[in-house]
Amino acid sequence: MRDPRHDVLFEPVQIGPITARNRFFQVPHCSGMGYRDPSAEAAMRRVKAEGGWAVVCTEQVEIHPTSDITPFIELRIWDDEDLPALELIATAIHDGGALAGIELAHNGMNSPNLTTREPPLGPVNLPVASWGHDPVQARAMTKSDIASLRRWHRDAVRRSLAVGYDLVYVYAGHALSGIQYFLSPRYNTRTDEYGGSVRNRARLLRELLADTRDVAEGKAAVACRITVDELIGDAGISRAEIEEIVGDLAELPDLWDFVLGSWEEDSVTSRFGPEAGQEPYVRGLKKLTTKPVVGVGRFTSPDTMARQVREGVLDLIGAARPSIADPFLPRKIEEGRVEDIRECIGCNICVSGDFTMSPIRCTQNPAMGEEFRRGWHPERIRPRQSSARILIVGAGPAGLEAARALGQRGYEIVLTEARRELGGRVAAESRLPGLHAWKRVVEYREQQLRRMPNVEIYLQSPMSADDILEHGFDHVVMATGAPWRRDGVGRWHTHPMPAEGSPQILTPDDLMAGRRAAGSRVLVFDDDHYYLGGVLAELLAAEGYQVRLVTPAASVSDWTANTLELVKIRQRVMRAGVAVEPNRTVLRLCASGAVTGCVFTGEEEAAEADAVVLVTARLPDDVLYSELQARQPEWAQSRITSVRAIGDAWAPATIAAAVWSGRRYAEELDAPALARPVPFRREMTALVSSPGDGASALTRQS
Ligand code: ADP
Ligand code: SF4
Repeated sequence: MRDPRHDVLFEPVQIGPITARNRFFQVPHCSGMGYRDPSAEAAMRRVKAEGGWAVVCTEQVEIHPTSDITPFIELRIWDDEDLPALELIATAIHDGGALAGIELAHNGMNSPNLTTREPPLGPVNLPVASWGHDPVQARAMTKSDIASLRRWHRDAVRRSLAVGYDLVYVYAGHALSGIQYFLSPRYNTRTDEYGGSVRNRARLLRELLADTRDVAEGKAAVACRITVDELIGDAGISRAEIEEIVGDLAELPDLWDFVLGSWEEDSVTSRFGPEAGQEPYVRGLKKLTTKPVVGVGRFTSPDTMARQVREGVLDLIGAARPSIADPFLPRKIEEGRVEDIRECIGCNICVSGDFTMSPIRCTQNPAMGEEFRRGWHPERIRPRQSSARILIVGAGPAGLEAARALGQRGYEIVLTEARRELGGRVAAESRLPGLHAWKRVVEYREQQLRRMPNVEIYLQSPMSADDILEHGFDHVVMATGAPWRRDGVGRWHTHPMPAEGSPQILTPDDLMAGRRAAGSRVLVFDDDHYYLGGVLAELLAAEGYQVRLVTPAASVSDWTANTLELVKIRQRVMRAGVAVEPNRTVLRLCASGAVTGCVFTGEEEAAEADAVVLVTARLPDDVLYSELQARQPEWAQSRITSVRAIGDAWAPATIAAAVWSGRRYAEELDAPALARPVPFRREMTALVSSPGDGASALTRQS
């Protein structure tokens, strides 16, 4: 039974001409699939609709060739040729039972137009504000450009309605939309009626909203997505300005969708911002309009959601990441199954899909992005095909997910773990500064496993090959993880790091197990480039050590550019007093510490340190796996038919990859062998009939 305190979340909400069946609203979010993988995108959005979201939106949809954010892969509505893909997505959302929203976007001076080669358009002449610092400038839009933009937007609205969208966005948020550059005093220094006062800077937004209403003719709702604070004080859109804008345009859209700052701020990770962290910025704006308001905040607690609705902060609970981690979040709350919610951990691995131009993935939900490609579903999995008994050794993210998914399939599972607690690397890492929410990877799975009568869990049970061969299991799965290397091998040193004597050497595993440097000076060598080097430097600095972070990369935790954390990590590490030395490597160890070198010139420098922390690479713990493979002749007498390694024990990678690997094992056990080499479905590009015929696109008859 549902908790009556959550009833308010299931009230319908009128959004102009449409009615949302409840207050759960999947706001537009990127998927890394877009125009390249529309069927995969459609299947993913359909699952969200099935999971109970009242409204499911696309990501941003570029409305014109002057809005081309290549290399990112979003959707496009440049002309009618884009419509079949967009229709497929709208239909899939409707099939799942939700209303379909489309986020029309003209990216303006955020788009370098690398594919289309159109000169970018902005309020003024300025270099494009793209992620890649592309060497391209935006051209100041003339009145005639503005008229064209309005026409393109109207055309896009018309096309959106023609393929069935119920809600159409005018997008002015995240420093991704060109409209925001008009709104912002930081960028808009025009002297005509589109620049100057707030009213003038908001003129383009007003016109586009009015145009959209006009074309929609009451057949679809109009949403306005807007940044409520650029977080640069009076230099940008501030609280006073947004109040004036929302107050002024209050009744023009049917829905206000509030976002905070740029994408980094709006999708802040759990390391840098709490759940509902946007509340102070959004609170109070609702009273400026009678129209419903949606906002986000990485909401996973239904109590927080209900409170925000009751207190009049929001009308609709917006979610991107919580809907990715658990597409069935609304249904679970509705059915009173709150403990079944797979809570987002706020790691932004989902965002990294967009940044690496690859299909979306999620640490918590391994089915994300695989709905069409592999037919995986976040809640359902095919029942077992045999009465096989399966032993899983190691209860890190890979072992836990394999056990959960195989347990759900109905197999008899024994999960053994050497340590006193479940979770492997996640249990250890979630005790590091800022990573507490990652524990949810373990908690969700433990919660599910404890309810499965067919799953037995044994802690403090290190398994040997003899132990395994003594028991009768059909399948043995090694999920034994991968400890950090102590020899310095990694990206920089592909052979063990040279040493002329050695200071104390510590690995991340040592630090997580509580071991510390004997002296006060610690050098952290980060050759891994994801989060751990930065986190460990932060940990040691907070404990009072004098920390120097040396990395061959240009930035601390370089790969976190893909999770929107790069700047925040650098700020935090610098403020903690860590001496950051980018573009340097540790050349060799010596008794007094290490000798570092510039990665460009090789120029050497002595770095005195009492201890060196090596964050370089990990080695699969495959001792047991190899021993069992070597003893294959003994398998038959123990009933064993297969021994496999999964997760980090097979190939060290992210926690998301380990979870996915566990799921893959469970999905593929007893599945018929695939005849084709590509183990997932792909969408193939349709070929034009006569490439290279030399006909000009302007004269070509299609
Ligand atoms: P992954 O990310 O692949 O899940 P982890 O390193 O997080 O890997 O987890 C591996 C887990 O396996 C750890 O909790 C570790 O204690 C456990 N483990 C390793 N070897 C054994 C063993 N021989 N018997 C039982 N558990 C083991
Ligand atoms: Fe949340 Fe991480 Fe999944 Fe993104 S990848 S939805 S941040 S758990």
